[in-house]
Amino acid sequence: MRKTHYDHVNLRAVRFFGFTSLVTTSRLHSAEAPERRTLRSSRVRRWLGHLFREWTTESWRPIAPAFAKPKPATWSDAQVTFAWIGHATVLINFFGIKILTDPVLFPRIGIRLPGLTIGPKRLTAPALQFHELPNIDLILLSHAHFDHLDLRTLRCFGESTTVITARATSDLLRHTRFCDVTELDWGEAKSFKTAGGEINISALPVNHWGARKRRDTYRGYNGYLLERKRQRIIFAGDTAMTNSFAELQEEGEIDLAIMSIGAYNPWIHSHCSPEQAVEMANAAGARFIIPVHHQTFRLSFEPFREPIERFEAALRKTPERIALREIGETFVLPL
Ligand SMILES: [Zn+2]
Repeated sequence: MRKTHYDHVNLRAVRFFGFTSLVTTSRLHSAEAPERRTLRSSRVRRWLGHLFREWTTESWRPIAPAFAKPKPATWSDAQVTFAWIGHATVLINFFGIKILTDPVLFPRIGIRLPGLTIGPKRLTAPALQFHELPNIDLILLSHAHFDHLDLRTLRCFGESTTVITARATSDLLRHTRFCDVTELDWGEAKSFKTAGGEINISALPVNHWGARKRRDTYRGYNGYLLERKRQRIIFAGDTAMTNSFAELQEEGEIDLAIMSIGAYNPWIHSHCSPEQAVEMANAAGARFIIPVHHQTFRLSFEPFREPIERFEAALRKTPERIALREIGETFVLPL
């Protein structure tokens, strides 16, 4: 499955800030139709214009506050509770184990220079600042792209936090304080003992890519299955459409799936549409879905509200399966 999304497209992905940023013609299609070249060059122009705005007028744009503020100190350790902090960052209390997915809490992501980060600015503030988080037992890192593995945020955490990350990505964490970092490759599973108890975590194959810069294409990229006390949760990371989630259903129901639903235009070959996110969650047999990876950073061309509106439309017959919709909202899993 790795890189299959490149096989049938006549685009060559150029990596920029861990993101597919420009499209250029491949050698195979050097004699293609002129109207397609026009389309591509206008896309390139739009993207360059977008980057220019990011570094100029965007600097003065205020960041909107989060829709709601979670109160994790009030959550019960006898429950499974989720709050969407922003982008792919979800705070989970899994029967007392505090988990954070892909933590990104600063105003910008990208390359860090002294006193400055060069990269996209948040549209919406994180629902919690670092000092408002509980002690985190486990951090899950899906892949090394800058909007998921943010070193500035990761450097805030102390050595008591265990980190689970994708194959060939732990070298990126060498200047953090983490002592316990485990790489999991697709199909690998491990039990982790934390201050909050024991949890089983498996790495799931997804349809994405792992390079943080241009040449480090050897890096892995994961979804995760979290299992504890017969509750099963998926954190899908970033993925284009894939059939791999369907296999999970054979071993029992999935209680909740955290699915990325944004950044599909024009990156549909590495990021699923909202409808495909629902389709994959359905294939896994997920009771509830938390839609993430929208409304936080402008990484693509779809309008700000389009992912969540399309997601809600895809679930209009069963809206009760939507665990939450807005940044900062909290969901308690019915047991
Ligand atoms: Zn992403």
